[in-house]
Amino acid sequence: MVKRVEKSDAEWRELLSADQYQVLRSKGTERAFTGEHNNTKTAGTYVCGGCGQPLFSSSTKFDSGSGWPSFYEPIDAVHIEEERDTSYGMVRTEVMCSACDGHLGHVFADGPAPTGLRYCINSLSLKLEADEE
Ligand code: FE
Repeated sequence: MVKRVEKSDAEWRELLSADQYQVLRSKGTERAFTGEHNNTKTAGTYVCGGCGQPLFSSSTKFDSGSGWPSFYEPIDAVHIEEERDTSYGMVRTEVMCSACDGHLGHVFADGPAPTGLRYCINSLSLKLEADEE
C-alpha cells in the first residue's frame, strides 16, 4: 500500500530547493556526473527526495558510467510509477515516485543481471538514508 502525498505547488516550492524542484516537479534532469549520489557506495536506502518513500536499495546500485545513479531494480515495484515519455524526440520510459508523482528519471532495458534494467535516476530526486554501522 502506498500512502499518497499531495501538496500544492506552493508547498513543494517551500519544501524543496530550487534544483530539487526543477527535477522532481518540473521533470528536469541534472547534468551528468554532477549529482551527489553518482558515485556513492554507502550502504543504505535511497528514498524519494520529495516525500521520503523508499525507492532503491544501495545493494542494487551499479556503476553504469552514465553519470547518474543507476539501479537494476526498485525496492518495491509499487513504489514507482512508469509512463511513456516522448519528449526531446526520444521514446523513453519515465520513472516517478508513486506516492508524490515526483519525477525520478528513466528506465532502460540495457541494465545488468538479474533484471536487465537500468533505472537512471537523478541524485536530486533521492535522499540516502545510510544503514546503521
Ligand atoms: Fe515521492
